[in-house]
Amino acid sequence: MHELSVCQEMLQQVDRIATEKQAISIDSITLHIGPLSGVEAHLLKQAFPFAAAGTRAQDAQLIIETLPIRVRCQQCGAETDASANRLLCGNCGDYHTQLLSGDEMLLASLELTRNNQEATHV
Ligand SMILES: [Zn+2]
Repeated sequence: MHELSVCQEMLQQVDRIATEKQAISIDSITLHIGPLSGVEAHLLKQAFPFAAAGTRAQDAQLIIETLPIRVRCQQCGAETDASANRLLCGNCGDYHTQLLSGDEMLLASLELTRNNQEATHV
């Protein structure tokens, strides 16, 4: 399952940040996922409890926000939103577009609990 390894990699990144911040637990993880990233949000949510079991993130809430797809038109130069199966310029309708965003998965924010029980937003 592709999403399980994606989840494990993401949790390694989260764990490094948690160690840097001396966190004892991770309360929530917010991810931004582009529709063209190849990662299915619902599969990622299913995989998360398995990947997080036994880590500081095992009780964390996984929040997934979907990013818009943005393209730049090579004909008119406009930057517009596009849909996943039609990467057309929203201004002139040309298909000669360059993808600006929508294929990425980003760790957007974390909520951590430190030793002193204070919640920290990173
Ligand atoms: Zn255009």
